Amino acid sequence: MTTIPLTDLAEPAITCSTCAACCCRLEVMLITDTGVPERYIDIDDWGGEVMLRLDDGWCAALDRDSMRCTIYEKRPLICREFETGSHDCLEERRGIATAYR
Ligand code: SF4
Ligand code: SF4
Repeated sequence: MTTIPLTDLAEPAITCSTCAACCCRLEVMLITDTGVPERYIDIDDWGGEVMLRLDDGWCAALDRDSMRCTIYEKRPLICREFETGSHDCLEERRGIATAYR
């Protein structure tokens, strides 16, 4: 009998294309001006600017069909710094594992 080491078991690749844009449900504060259109900006309870989220929980700037950012060139700094494969990314992916395609 051949024993397969646990480390050789196929893990799903960490890529945004196999993820239901989990990180786009997080609160995103606007701490610099990257040109986010006004219609996607909301004000939080403390008066700070954040990305508007719709009733489904996702960012208003997310295309619900493609699950891609519609303002990618103008996305907030926090979105730019949220790295694929980072600890935070893995945590978010774990949170909605059943949504993976
Ligand atoms: S949680 Fe990670 S894999 Fe998923 S969309 Fe965000 S950066 Fe991409
Ligand atoms: S601005 Fe774009 S990358 Fe940032 S949370 Fe919204 S849809 Fe996601």
